[in-house]
Amino acid sequence: MRAVVIHAPKDLRIDNFPDPAPDAGEVRVKIAAGGICGSDLHYYHHGGFGTVRIQEPMALGHEIAGVVAALGEGVTHLAPGMRVAVNPSQPCGACVHCREGMRNQCLDMRFMGSAMRNPHVQGGFREHVTVPAAQAIPIPDGLSLVEAAMAEPLAVCLHAANQAGQVMGKRVLVTGCGPIGALMVLVARHAGAAEIVITDVADAPLVIARRLGASHAFNVAKEATALDPWRAGKGTFDVLFEASGNAAALRLAFDLLRPGAVIVQLGLGGEMTLPVNSIVTKEFELRGTFRFDPEFELALRLMGAGRLDVKPLITASLPFEQAIEAFELASDRSKSMKIQLTF
Ligand code: ZN
Repeated sequence: MRAVVIHAPKDLRIDNFPDPAPDAGEVRVKIAAGGICGSDLHYYHHGGFGTVRIQEPMALGHEIAGVVAALGEGVTHLAPGMRVAVNPSQPCGACVHCREGMRNQCLDMRFMGSAMRNPHVQGGFREHVTVPAAQAIPIPDGLSLVEAAMAEPLAVCLHAANQAGQVMGKRVLVTGCGPIGALMVLVARHAGAAEIVITDVADAPLVIARRLGASHAFNVAKEATALDPWRAGKGTFDVLFEASGNAAALRLAFDLLRPGAVIVQLGLGGEMTLPVNSIVTKEFELRGTFRFDPEFELALRLMGAGRLDVKPLITASLPFEQAIEAFELASDRSKSMKIQLTF
């Protein structure tokens, strides 16, 4: 079979790839759709992010869905032909964090398409993947495979909303309108936010955010005073979802947040300089959020029930043989929100 494999920055190839039969407890999934994530783009442009660098060729991709093609021995809850989303997380289940219910913090996590461990965990941009059956989650009738491939980034945002605590009735600011920021708008609306304002420095993604239910969407590079109404008093937003990873966006938000506000940092920003005095005097709560756990199945249930419609985010689908074109398109924020590969 073939796979979309990164060899070095800007060296993305369609390679032949081993296609093992499923062992006991495993399932082979014929992949139909795979979404290109920001981390895939980092591998493509820079060979990695932070201190993580590719050390060997690695198939990219971790937002995937397809159809069960073959079962290993002992797998009884799935059948060939069933449509599934593949959860890219494989926590060990045995370490201290897994045992304490924080499986997303697993000490021995295997996450598809990640170069964090060596040898790397191969990703899901392949014609078939063979995974433990627990990672193949049946998808609700009526939910397309294209939508099901959005379960992973949606799960990230559902986990972030859980980290925020109560969103019902709150005034929510989202900074950064990539796929994660845009999905945060959907999730915050579903969670009952009274008002949702999103910011970015590009126009095109903000158009999609308005369609997804943002109360206001501002290009802060062009409209410097647009947020002034929310600056009243000590600031008026109750919750910030920071999805840009940009220190300037986080600093800007500090003046807009009311005392006691909750900041959920989704964007990976590396080193940042922050006015810690503001955190102290306005009694902000700064919270991280990392990946997801039960939220993956919740994402499928909510999409399947028609509660969250992710279709407006998917701006194009290209055959995987055109992966380079797709990755370039995904890198152009004036044209693209979420680009998917088809297999
Ligand atoms: Zn573990």
